Amino acid sequence: MSMDLTFLGTGSAYPSPHRGASALVLRTEGDCWLFDCGEGTQTQLMKSQLKAGRISKVFITHLHGDHLFGLPGLLCTISLNLSPSPTQPPACVDVYGPRGLRHFLRVALSLSGSQLLFPYAVHELQPTADQCPPESQPADAPEASATESRHPQERPGRTIPLDVARDCYPLLEDERFVVVAFRLFHRLPSFGFSVQERDRPGRLNTQLLRDLGVKPGPVYGRLKSGESVTLESGRVVTPDEVLEEAIPGRKVCVLGDCSALVGDGPLQACRGADVLVHEATLGDGHRERAVEHGHSTPKMAAAVARACRARKLVLHHFSQRYKPLSLGTEGGEDDVAELRRQAEEALQDTGTEVVLADDFLTIPIPIKRLH
Ligand SMILES: [Zn+2]
Ligand SMILES: [Zn+2]
Repeated sequence: MSMDLTFLGTGSAYPSPHRGASALVLRTEGDCWLFDCGEGTQTQLMKSQLKAGRISKVFITHLHGDHLFGLPGLLCTISLNLSPSPTQPPACVDVYGPRGLRHFLRVALSLSGSQLLFPYAVHELQPTADQCPPESQPADAPEASATESRHPQERPGRTIPLDVARDCYPLLEDERFVVVAFRLFHRLPSFGFSVQERDRPGRLNTQLLRDLGVKPGPVYGRLKSGESVTLESGRVVTPDEVLEEAIPGRKVCVLGDCSALVGDGPLQACRGADVLVHEATLGDGHRERAVEHGHSTPKMAAAVARACRARKLVLHHFSQRYKPLSLGTEGGEDDVAELRRQAEEALQDTGTEVVLADDFLTIPIPIKRLH
């Protein structure tokens, strides 16, 4: 199964002609999952190879506008481009994000009279008090949203509390993926997401099966799916005996804006990530200012990559002062390549690769090879 990550916006605070506001897409076999949706994400999508209509899930890391303001407009445009089919009702778009997101979307879509041709559901993560400074705790107004009427296309969503034992938020599990969220510290409660692909069963050792007298047929499928089978002779063949080593699933982790991790959950969820996407808003020379605004520097991002033994660290969410490499602004104080050097220096003994994201950069995530 092919898998890749495309950055649609890599700038912080606002979209500029050089860097869009935060958004990236994880694509697997044509299915697109969108992470954050800053203003202008829909036009960035149109300029990319991706199709907005393929977005089936949206994950919002936190409620700052540079990660969220593009979402109502994007949903409306997906709807405009949808041709209603009488035979196949459109699938529900699942949106995951912090508490308050349901209210935001409901108000934005309802007040603007936006009609959607497809249903959507918002699944809210309940933040804990230690995810932001006390003065910026979001106002708690559950009563207000309980009495609001839902948008006609809104389906009931889940409210997901922290699973204290695992220090994470279980979001979804299907036959291909397990997705959890974890807590980050920022000016507003922020979250990261870990997408773990399930391991694939190894190949069947057909020679051994023949030697055991197992004939090709449905029995092969049962063994491959992990079931033991009993032969006519009474001999039980277990999958372990006849399956080669499983192919480990890939892991992609996307962190929202942060100046620190909260609890043990983030490192547990990101352990051994194939790709770790982490913000680096300002260079290490501006560390104090970065932290003051709830942000990270390349060295701070590298420390997270080191702690979870990530194979690849992708930096994004750059201050708009750092122009893309393609503009050829190397050498100055605002040279974005300097951010990569800072992270590389902090990771030089680890083998972790550092990548600078630019708008429209696509990173393939190949199937792991067995050694
Ligand atoms: Zn931001
Ligand atoms: Zn932010």
